[in-house]
Amino acid sequence: MPEVIVVGAGPVGTLLAAELTRFGVDVAVVERRPAAGGGSRAIGLHAPTLAALEAGGATERILTRAVRVRRGEARSDGRTLGVVDFGRLDVRHPYVATLPQVETEAALRGNGPEPERGVTVTRIAPDGARVRVETDQGERAAPIVVVAGGVGVRELVFRPGALRRTAYADRYLMTDAALPPREDDETAVVHLAPDGVLESFPLPDGRRRFVAWDAGGSLEPHALAARLRGAMRARGEAGAAEMVSGATGFGVRRVLAPAMRRDRLFVIGDAAHEISPIGGQGLNLGLLDAATLAPLLAAWTRLGSAPEPDLAEWERDRLRSARAAGRLAAVNMSLGRPVSRRTHAMRSRVLGSVLAATGSLVPHAYAMGLDAAGR
Ligand SMILES: Cc1cc2nc3c(=O)[nH]c(=O)nc-3n(C[C@H](O)[C@H](O)[C@H](O)COP(=O)(O)OP(=O)(O)OC[C@H]3O[C@@H](n4cnc5c(N)ncnc54)[C@H](O)[C@@H]3O)c2cc1C
Repeated sequence: MPEVIVVGAGPVGTLLAAELTRFGVDVAVVERRPAAGGGSRAIGLHAPTLAALEAGGATERILTRAVRVRRGEARSDGRTLGVVDFGRLDVRHPYVATLPQVETEAALRGNGPEPERGVTVTRIAPDGARVRVETDQGERAAPIVVVAGGVGVRELVFRPGALRRTAYADRYLMTDAALPPREDDETAVVHLAPDGVLESFPLPDGRRRFVAWDAGGSLEPHALAARLRGAMRARGEAGAAEMVSGATGFGVRRVLAPAMRRDRLFVIGDAAHEISPIGGQGLNLGLLDAATLAPLLAAWTRLGSAPEPDLAEWERDRLRSARAAGRLAAVNMSLGRPVSRRTHAMRSRVLGSVLAATGSLVPHAYAMGLDAAGR
């Protein structure tokens, strides 16, 4: 019997398993998907995450490929309204490292165990000094189980109605496109426009991620791509619009668990807290859950008893950090909604003044400086 079972080999479960292995813990991972990979999701890793991943070597692997984005710009009507200067942060990694999630997941693996793939967990049952994990391929058990199964696994661990949910009407279109070289190759840009926001982030290999607020309409792939191209033309990225051949659409919600631990059972990552991707922090939040939990579980397995005060503090800090990230994402979304021309002009002026007046406060908040692990 392993000392710890991790449910889910997404980025958060993968990191936890790698960290536990590094600390000498015998860990097994079960994963529903038969193969790694999947669609493009998170792209930005922030300073506290990069610092937390250093000891295991993941940061070095990530930085060999990632773009180091030191500067963000808010633009409107072809003008720069203000700058978010990550380079001025007093941290070891004063930038956002951008890399497609699938590459980040590969970098997180380290010497962690190969997950047992094609195994779906169907029930999790605490049972005295162990936790039973029932799957479609038989039962496993371990003294400690950590659920990192993302949004689809919550009903296995939380009672119906236990999670705090906020639904948003906002919808977004997204694509990663290859572009010819441009001057702002290493700058993140947020275009504010009366008909909604357009975000544009650098990626390795001359690619960029575009995300646009979407008024809705047909979900046919060609219609999504046409609407994204239209939004890019209208909001300041006319040249890049011609390079877009496909797009995906996504909606957003905020979900927060009331707790992340029940005795020997832990829940981390998106399974415990889902926040809008418009904040760019969901993955970072989950990785910091894993990086901060691993040493505590290692101490538990080594000493044979749970480090209760540390685990209680861990849970408090992680829930508080998830609430802060959720609030920041909500502010981001409200800044990017469509408004009248008059309100747009006022919003642009106010944002320019705020960015000029607040110094490193805004980059600090956007770079996970509000997270307990970033303090
Ligand atoms: C469009 C988009 C853009 C995003 N951009 C960003 C960004 O720029 N920055 C950022 O920080 N975050 C971003 N995010 C959020 C980020 O992608 C998630 O927070 C992150 O993937 C969560 O990781 P996780 O490991 O908790 O869950 P997941 O990535 O969902 O992984 C869970 C794993 O568990 C497996 N699993 C599920 N159920 C079971 C079961 N019953 N049995 C066994 N295995 C199971 C799944 O197959 C999966 O592999 C974005 C999200 C979206 C949708």
